Amino acid sequence: MNFVKHCADVIVVGGGIMGASISYYLTKQGIKPTLLERGILAEGTCGSSGGSLSLVDKSPGILMMLAQKSVNLYHNLEQELDYNFGYQRCGTLVPVEDEESFTAVRKWIEPLRQNGLECITYSREELRHKEPFMSDHVIGGFLFPQEAIVDPVRVALGLAWKARCLGATILTDCKVININWQPGSSDFLVSTSKGDYTAPLLINAAGVWSPEIASFLDRTIPVIPRQGQLAIMEPGINLLQTLILGASYFRVKYDNSQYNNKSESISMAIEQRGPYVIVGSSRRFVGMDRTPDDSLIAYLIDQATRFLPALADRKCVSKIACVRPYTPDHLPILGGYVDFPSFIQATGHEGDGICLAPITGKLIAEIVATGKTTIDISALSPSRFKEKEWEK
Ligand SMILES: Cc1cc2nc3c(=O)[nH]c(=O)nc-3n(C[C@H](O)[C@H](O)[C@H](O)COP(=O)(O)OP(=O)(O)OC[C@H]3O[C@@H](n4cnc5c(N)ncnc54)[C@H](O)[C@@H]3O)c2cc1C
Repeated sequence: MNFVKHCADVIVVGGGIMGASISYYLTKQGIKPTLLERGILAEGTCGSSGGSLSLVDKSPGILMMLAQKSVNLYHNLEQELDYNFGYQRCGTLVPVEDEESFTAVRKWIEPLRQNGLECITYSREELRHKEPFMSDHVIGGFLFPQEAIVDPVRVALGLAWKARCLGATILTDCKVININWQPGSSDFLVSTSKGDYTAPLLINAAGVWSPEIASFLDRTIPVIPRQGQLAIMEPGINLLQTLILGASYFRVKYDNSQYNNKSESISMAIEQRGPYVIVGSSRRFVGMDRTPDDSLIAYLIDQATRFLPALADRKCVSKIACVRPYTPDHLPILGGYVDFPSFIQATGHEGDGICLAPITGKLIAEIVATGKTTIDISALSPSRFKEKEWEK
């Protein structure tokens, strides 16, 4: 084993979609980062994720603005990377089953429409024309045509591959086990399972594991695991043209309650990925538990079958449970600390990390290259939590 000290310009911890995106956008700025991943690329949350690039599920304000910018970056990203990651601008459809849900969704989207969200209201017949497999009991819905889906693992691999072509060093099986930084010293000393690395800038892109990385430097960050489960149904003919979100999706996503009841924890998203229909998902706070729960998955499939009766003829071929990097104010944590600017956070994206990966990479690269960003992200600073009560 070689325990020699390696010097880098900037170290990125975590080889998920954030670490890969940051590395790519750094190389576009002419900076050659060293990315350290403890396992293989995309083995964390990004490898067990839905692929929706939705705008309609973003709260109005900075989250919506970041998502719009990120979705715009996605439009040309496959060409830029010369890599097919399954980008499809299919739109998101929110089917509604009763007048009450119709009103609730309309109320949710009103401020988003003022922020530029495009929306088409569908009658029952129009909806059935768009999605012929939709159940007859659905009374109508809302289509959001700007939205798209991708394959998250392929996005992460494409970004990392391109970053490497442009000069980044990507190290896998390289677990960060300690970090040292002394006030007044210019470099971080990062100890890993593959030896020591030094750099003047350190980026924490370790998703739900980012609190552990921060703790090496005596910082506490409020990233809390929020479990989600997915069912992958056996392949068959395509049942969907669009991404489907349930009408209660928005309420569950932005509710901080600890649900025990299955029905209350469901934020329904149904996605066609190749020949597979992926049925998700749930939101529960159960620590780092990544064990699929058979009864919850059965309930999810049952709920999805209400919208798509043809799913009843398909078996579930894979069950997945994973954890999202949740923050108490539902916003990601981006940038350096006011009193420790060289330790940069890029974490806390909860259920939005796939959508927000390009803009996160771009903004973090701007911070590294110029010390500032082209848009104001002070509301996302890691220092915002200092004064706040956030422990769950
Ligand atoms: C069920 C589910 C569905 C989702 N659906 C969507 C969706 O449709 N759209 C969307 O935008 N988002 C979705 N998300 C959220 C999205 O998946 C996450 O926000 C995103 O994957 C977070 O990416 P990341 O790179 O920050 O974290 P990760 O992908 O977890 O990457 C962190 C990496 O850090 C590495 N690491 C940890 N500790 C160390 C260490 N000590 N040393 C070195 N490396 C380390 C890990 O191995 C891991 O590879 C979903 C999430 C779930 C769970």
